[in-house]
Amino acid sequence: MLLPVIPFIGILITPSMISIYLSCPRKAWYQYVARIPLPPSRAMLIGRIFHETLSQLTHYRRDEDLHAFLIDALTQTIRQHHDLLHEYDLHEHDLHERLTPWLSHAERILQHHLPRAERIMTEVTLTDDQLGLKGRIDLIIRQAERLLLIEWKTGRLKQGFMSPHTLQADAYVHLTRTLADERELFLVSVSTKQHLAWRESPFTPIRLEKTISRVKSIFQQEEPPEPVRTPACRYCPYFSRCWGMQPSS
Ligand code: SF4
Repeated sequence: MLLPVIPFIGILITPSMISIYLSCPRKAWYQYVARIPLPPSRAMLIGRIFHETLSQLTHYRRDEDLHAFLIDALTQTIRQHHDLLHEYDLHEHDLHERLTPWLSHAERILQHHLPRAERIMTEVTLTDDQLGLKGRIDLIIRQAERLLLIEWKTGRLKQGFMSPHTLQADAYVHLTRTLADERELFLVSVSTKQHLAWRESPFTPIRLEKTISRVKSIFQQEEPPEPVRTPACRYCPYFSRCWGMQPSS
């Protein structure tokens, strides 16, 4: 069955689109061209609450107790989502228990970098129209002439030259090129405690340009690319569309 598709023209490519394209081009097509929404999940809600908590760092003053600030931000964010918690059968207390260790890990990283912060910015959206790229960076800390970029991840980081996380790191470092000459990005997984430190290399713009052009060519297709069976298919929300059945238990 042909799905109604929305022409993907003049839309900027985001690091999330690149990441999903690298995991499966067909999945990216379903999500961004056919716009079949992903079913909401508990994991998505938990990730959202965690990110919203840390986005409040923009209000942090250096003379405040960082630990108390973060716990207070977490409490407020959980309360703001009270109705959704109920929908997903989540309880405030359980969420506190689940997210406090993640927050403690983030706090250790922040304790190291915030004392030298001249400015703290959260959820900063930047674009490169020429490259056709747009991204939102979780946290930018300005330290004198240097910018420190932090992206919080709640799952395992995949390393390697063409891994989704490596290309995301390239995209974020590239997008801040007009803000400072010296920039360093940390991808931090708060669940696995992995860190990936990243700086722009001479290959960054070339690699990004090639990847963006491959993503765009898929997004201009009227039909999805052929499915390729991988172990990840089992956990994919589009499984039955690709394989005509539900994943076996
Ligand atoms: S089920 Fe597999 S092939 Fe189909 S969209 Fe998902 S990951 Fe891609």
